[in-house]
Amino acid sequence: MKRVRAFIRWMKVDPRHPDIARAQYNELKTQIPSLYALLMVNAVAVSYTHYDVAPFYLTVGALAAILVISAVRLVVWIKVRHLDPAPAEAVRRLRRTIVIGGLIAAIYITWSLSLDTYGGPEERGHIALFIAITVIGCIFCLTNLPQAAVLVMAVVTIPYLVYYLRQDNDVYTAIAMNIFLVCVVVLQVVFRNHRSFCKLVRSQAETEVLNAENERLAQTDALTNLPNRRYFFSQLETRIGKAKAEQSTIAVGVVDLDRFKQINDTYGHQLGDQLLGEVGKRLNTLSLPDVVICRLGGDEFGFLCPGDPNEATKTGDRICELLSAPYQIGDLQVSVGASCGLALYPQAGTTAQVLFGRSDYALYHAKTNSRGRSTIYSAAHEALMRSEQAVETALQRANLEEEFEVHFQPVVSLPDRTIIGFEALARWHSPSLGEVRPDRFIPIAERTGFVHNLTPFLFAKALKQIKALPGDLCLAFNLSGHDITSPDTVDTLLEIIRSHELPPQMVTFEITETAVISSYDAAEKSLRKLKTAGAKTALDDFGTGYSSLGYLHRLPIDCVKIDRSFLAGIEDPADEGVVRSIIEMCRSLQMLCVVEGVETRGQLDLVEKLQCRLVQGDLFSGALSYDVIRESVDKTDKVAGLPLSVSTQLDALKLSAS
Ligand code: C2E
Ligand code: CA
Ligand code: CA
Repeated sequence: MKRVRAFIRWMKVDPRHPDIARAQYNELKTQIPSLYALLMVNAVAVSYTHYDVAPFYLTVGALAAILVISAVRLVVWIKVRHLDPAPAEAVRRLRRTIVIGGLIAAIYITWSLSLDTYGGPEERGHIALFIAITVIGCIFCLTNLPQAAVLVMAVVTIPYLVYYLRQDNDVYTAIAMNIFLVCVVVLQVVFRNHRSFCKLVRSQAETEVLNAENERLAQTDALTNLPNRRYFFSQLETRIGKAKAEQSTIAVGVVDLDRFKQINDTYGHQLGDQLLGEVGKRLNTLSLPDVVICRLGGDEFGFLCPGDPNEATKTGDRICELLSAPYQIGDLQVSVGASCGLALYPQAGTTAQVLFGRSDYALYHAKTNSRGRSTIYSAAHEALMRSEQAVETALQRANLEEEFEVHFQPVVSLPDRTIIGFEALARWHSPSLGEVRPDRFIPIAERTGFVHNLTPFLFAKALKQIKALPGDLCLAFNLSGHDITSPDTVDTLLEIIRSHELPPQMVTFEITETAVISSYDAAEKSLRKLKTAGAKTALDDFGTGYSSLGYLHRLPIDCVKIDRSFLAGIEDPADEGVVRSIIEMCRSLQMLCVVEGVETRGQLDLVEKLQCRLVQGDLFSGALSYDVIRESVDKTDKVAGLPLSVSTQLDALKLSAS
């Protein structure tokens, strides 16, 4: 009973395998026209051989009716040859085909058996042949719809067999039996083919699912489960195309975590990864209409949203806020900030690369001017970027020997007011741009890699000039983030010290906290190498960055330089407090301390009161060219009215613990 039910379900085309039904229908479309052509040809042949023996309505009349029906069906199937129906529709069409197949088979067998009553053995032999080739031909044409093949075979061969059995004619019964058995065998072949067909369709469907999954994985970031950089850029291209066509706007946002590198370096990469995973979770919960958020790499995320500036800013701010709440990772609670740069299409650019570059530029400005919030790329940024481009172009063409030199600012020891050495400060005279200040060109030289050649050149020049001056003068030299993380540059600098035969302890390399933070491990390694070679190290602009005590403890630092911004306000008790506490910290850590930017007598008095031993500033002298210093020394033995120190023992200038 169960089998019968299963058979009936199968005969009705099982809707649980819609993909197979659809594939079946698409195959069938190409076969059925041949089936009707075959029916028409065979019908013409059989009515021709019976034309003289059978009545007119059974030959010409029936033939005309059969040809019309077949032709109509043929046209119907030719018309649907480009149709790719939905699965449910395919099931419906297959069912209809089975029913029509059964009906046509019934018409054919009725007609054939009616004709069989006329004519002699030759005509009857033709009927047997007609039935055999027609039914076998039909079964083959219905290979992809075995249900119809079974029905046609049953409707034709069973009545035929019964018909002859009842007539008790051995030869024709044998023929009928033969046809029946051949059909059974042919059906076996059809079933086997159909099974392989189903298997193929299923494996194709599985492959499609796998491909789709692979495609999804290839566009997903494993750590955060967010779409990845590849997806971001393909979406950006698509959205730009759409915006162009619809004349609409889009916004491209780049979000970068503040202090992530610091956390990664302090607590290790595993915790860094966990933190990024948490960031991913938060971003995944954010469901904003028409906004896609992706991880671009490292601690950088990108998002795309409609281009209304207010809405885009709101979205950026919301993401920054969401990411800034503290994270609980194991026993540890950490906080990172986030800043966001935005660029709008078409105002900021019309290609993916330009838009991304501009949002990145806006991010860079967000990080310096409005941390924790969004900054939209504006006309002011455009002007700035253009001038940076001008600097970049001029740098690329610059001739080191002719355009760059070093100026020196005296480092003065207190209370005796002698010059113990100089800080070397780069000066660039560009033929196209005129004088360009170092804080403008150094970052660009860093970004373009030009600093790789510039630093050794300036250092060698500074060293040579300092050595040419009388006395044992110290040289303080600034290194950029790029320099301190490049082992090559560090080796070159040490080699320059060796080749100039200057005691390494007379050289202090100054680095800023920002330079260290961007790549802590590499920076620490370089600083150790410099220290091991005997050179001194100083943390520059102290107080402006993170001013982390942790750095002072862990890094091999000899000296702290208090940023000149504190001096400007030192008469304010708050700033005085900061300067005092930094000086005291240096004292307890047994470090040298330099106060920069002393411009007035009042400031100097306060610094002296705080017992700081080293100062720099315009009150004594700004940066001077070598020629000016040389001339002054030759004439007066002094620079800016101050004598050069006879012998400098930097270590003796350390603030002693009291
Ligand atoms: P910095 O290392 O903090 O250098 C001190 C800056 O303050 C110098 O500006 C100096 O001219 C200026 N200055 C000194 N005393 C006073 C003062 O009393 N009042 C005021 N208002 N300013 C004072 P400069 O030469 O423009 O250099 C700017 C920055 O560029 C430097 O800051 C340093 O970070 C960077 N830099 C300069 N030369 C080099 C270099 O050769 N390599 C690298 N990597 N950076 C350099
Ligand atoms: Ca400096
Ligand atoms: Ca400084």
